[in-house]
Amino acid sequence: MGRQGILIVVSGFSGAGKGTVMKGLMDRYGSYALSVSATTRPPRPGEVEGKAYFFKTREEFEQMIADGALIEYAQYVDNYYGTPRAYVEQQLSEGRDVILEIEIQGARKVREQFPEAVLLFVTAKDLPTLRSRLTGRGTEPPEVIAQRLCRAAQESEGIEEYDYLVINDDLDACVEEIHGIIESEHRKISRNKDFIHQIREELEVFSKGE
Ligand code: 5GP
Repeated sequence: MGRQGILIVVSGFSGAGKGTVMKGLMDRYGSYALSVSATTRPPRPGEVEGKAYFFKTREEFEQMIADGALIEYAQYVDNYYGTPRAYVEQQLSEGRDVILEIEIQGARKVREQFPEAVLLFVTAKDLPTLRSRLTGRGTEPPEVIAQRLCRAAQESEGIEEYDYLVINDDLDACVEEIHGIIESEHRKISRNKDFIHQIREELEVFSKGE
């Protein structure tokens, strides 16, 4: 009996190091499928089309919305971001665990459509660390950093909607923790109904007439 893929949503404040953590998870455990989002944000230096994102014009993005090609989409600091539907559905149907690294409005929409999704919120251990990671990236002008911190303040109001809080202090430990959470989710009774049903049926013969 093949195990079912789990849809995992990873959100967190800008500067929490989600990208690095996701890369660590993919490098160490090749079995996860990381969804690549579409966005209207311009590429940062080094970001490759189809790997970091599918970079779209506003018109192209709006066409994807109209075509129903996105599971969810949201506006974040003046740009659109969205999750292409086909890849996620394909990977889940093949039993792979799929990871979406998306912000909170998207996470809410995923929860509505996939009630069994697991939602993780990743944060740096404190505000100074968050801030220095944001400025240390050196890719965003101060006003964008200010907008992203403002957004973090708003997003912090929604943390209770998530299932797990993960603190990204030590990268390796954080990667292991996320992997452990996903493994535990696979062990949940509610995710093993078929297995339980089968073993019960096999045992039934012993209960007859005894
Ligand atoms: P960044 O511009 O730093 O790459 O991403 C900005 C925010 O957009 C991050 O919080 C990231 O998780 C989120 N994001 C990336 N892709 C998606 C997506 O497909 N949908 C939604 N809702 N948010 C996304």
